[in-house]
Amino acid sequence: MSKTIQIAIDGPAGAGKSTVAKALAAKLGYIYIDTGAMYRAITLIMLENDIALTDEERISDILKTVKITFGDSMPDGRQKVYCNAVDCTEKIRSPEVSRHVSEVSALPIVRRALVDKQRQIAGENNVIMDGRDIGTVVLPHAQHKFFLTATLEERTRRRSEEMRNAGMAMDFDVLKSEIAQRDEKDSQRIDSPLKAADDAVLIDTSKMSLDEVIENLFSRI
Ligand code: C5P
Repeated sequence: MSKTIQIAIDGPAGAGKSTVAKALAAKLGYIYIDTGAMYRAITLIMLENDIALTDEERISDILKTVKITFGDSMPDGRQKVYCNAVDCTEKIRSPEVSRHVSEVSALPIVRRALVDKQRQIAGENNVIMDGRDIGTVVLPHAQHKFFLTATLEERTRRRSEEMRNAGMAMDFDVLKSEIAQRDEKDSQRIDSPLKAADDAVLIDTSKMSLDEVIENLFSRI
């Protein structure tokens, strides 16, 4: 059992993990770590520098030198993300990054480096961490594990609204098919696939309001 308190929230894209995790972290005074943002940041840097998925040497260089840091929440509730001290909050959420992130996050070299960082933070702070493999791989001894799901339709609706608010509106059906493809890739990969831990509490949030989900998790913690 770790000295710090660790809460793992996993689930497919758009299940509301980050919004719920952020609200719980604020209520509990814990640090919130958006692990998806870390995979997105590496993907962005690889795209900007035209680095191939097979170029292990350059990927390894990036992983050794990159500094991904989190800042305060913005008025819309999103957390600022910095890649090497440059604000990359908007760029990491672009459709382009979303389209490539599953391929990058399937690379064992990338996962090893980011999981090390995630475990280090969780070893030093009480954390709420959201992602795909937190309860299964990153923090297998977390005191609380949740797996949030919702129908594909509902998840697309939520993500679509989020993107519209961020000024990146997308066609609903295109977004829906991209989310489905990303979930498929994340679930099928060999290294740390998207999966509920055996001891995770499964919550279908399709028909729940945000406040209901937060209250449900909070009461269990
Ligand atoms: O959470 P978000 O949708 O921003 O995650 C983006 C992508 O990062 C996921 O689709 C997945 O490929 C990858 N990811 C991962 N493991 C995590 C968190 C995210 O592979 N723990």
